[in-house]
Amino acid sequence: MKLDVDVLRYLSKDDFRVLTAVELGMRNHEIVPTELIDRIARLKHGCTYKVLKNLLKYKLLHHDSSKYDGFRLTYLGYDFLAIKTMVNKGVFVGVGRQIGVGKESDIFEVVREDGTVLAMKLHRLGRVSFRAVKSKRDYLRHRSSYNWLYLSRLAALKEFAFMKALETHGFPVPNAVEHNRHCVVMSLVQGYPLVQVKQLQNPETVFETIIGLVVRLAEHGLIHCDFNEFNIMIDDDEKITMIDFPQMVSVSHRNAQMYFDRDVECVFKFFMKRFNLSFQESIDDIDGSDDGRDEAGKPCFSAIERSAGFLDRELAASGFTRKDEEDIQRFIEGGAESDSNSDSEVVHIVEDLNETDMEESHQDAMENEAELVKSLNKQRRRAIAAARRGRETVAARNSYKDKGGRSSHNSKIQKQLSSW
Ligand code: ADP
Ligand code: MG
Repeated sequence: MKLDVDVLRYLSKDDFRVLTAVELGMRNHEIVPTELIDRIARLKHGCTYKVLKNLLKYKLLHHDSSKYDGFRLTYLGYDFLAIKTMVNKGVFVGVGRQIGVGKESDIFEVVREDGTVLAMKLHRLGRVSFRAVKSKRDYLRHRSSYNWLYLSRLAALKEFAFMKALETHGFPVPNAVEHNRHCVVMSLVQGYPLVQVKQLQNPETVFETIIGLVVRLAEHGLIHCDFNEFNIMIDDDEKITMIDFPQMVSVSHRNAQMYFDRDVECVFKFFMKRFNLSFQESIDDIDGSDDGRDEAGKPCFSAIERSAGFLDRELAASGFTRKDEEDIQRFIEGGAESDSNSDSEVVHIVEDLNETDMEESHQDAMENEAELVKSLNKQRRRAIAAARRGRETVAARNSYKDKGGRSSHNSKIQKQLSSW
């Protein structure tokens, strides 16, 4: 997906106000009624429709009139909200080329004011299999807030919390810089995913380091759950960095043993195939013992002692709640049924995007974001309360119910929309 940040230059304060209004509306509407957007955004009479048209032109919104007249954010629209916030916070000043396309993410280089390059991961939970999962899973049926926006935001929150905690405990992970919505900014890892590496100077040492990480994670109470050659980065000095944490679980998870064994198996298989390692030998050579390993030299989950504290509990006590974890886990495990092959199906495209500095002129647009959100929330609550009390105008009611078109107000909107 292209992230044409040039568009940011052309977006005004009102554009961001309406975009934020749609985002707020999406907390309880898959498609946010146009009327509601107008009421939340509270622009001058008629302005919202002009702005909606503009946002639609730049593909930041999607128009849907199948049930009633309304809009939803596109990934791009959500990206822009997060990017704008990051820029306003001074996290970075420009977005550069795309450096990775994960199964459920896009990764870009971003540049700080001092020229430092960082990595920005935009989560796209649900991009691959959300529809399939949605039709299968009843946990989604009654909760409109379980949409891709919510899931992607949870994934980013979880990734950020885990990356920070792992770093604190001395694991080789990127430095977690900031997160907002579905976006995580972290240090840029020098090197390549292990999957791209055809030769190693010391394959045995690298292998042992990697298996050592799986074991040390478990000693800290955690399992990576997607620990494979796509999520292990290696540099020219054969230094390892692990990435990609939204699917991690505690060792007390009911399927912990299976996840642990799967991570171990992935590493064994990859090193056997790619570097022709014969494990029993290499382990005996290096360790001189096979304590805690099975006859094939694989570490046994049951033999691992939680000697290194309770990182899983620490994390549960952080901003990432147990409910968040349950929600995301249900999605990931559900998704795994239809997407068993995780990262291996990922197409790694490195696509050049013109490096471009973000326009300063709209920097003030989201400066008062917190206040805007607060006031918009208040507006929204009032609008909903008014709707419940049945005090809203006939036109507003109609627009929800009869797909618009009948009331004079609606037909005006319809007319505008049909020309887009
Ligand atoms: P996904 O969850 O979609 O698999 P990943 O976090 O694994 O996403 O990232 C996908 C790819 O992007 C990685 O394989 C890697 O090539 C690149 N990448 C991710 N994070 C970084 C980073 N911090 N520095 C450099 N490259 C990265
Ligand atoms: Mg990955």
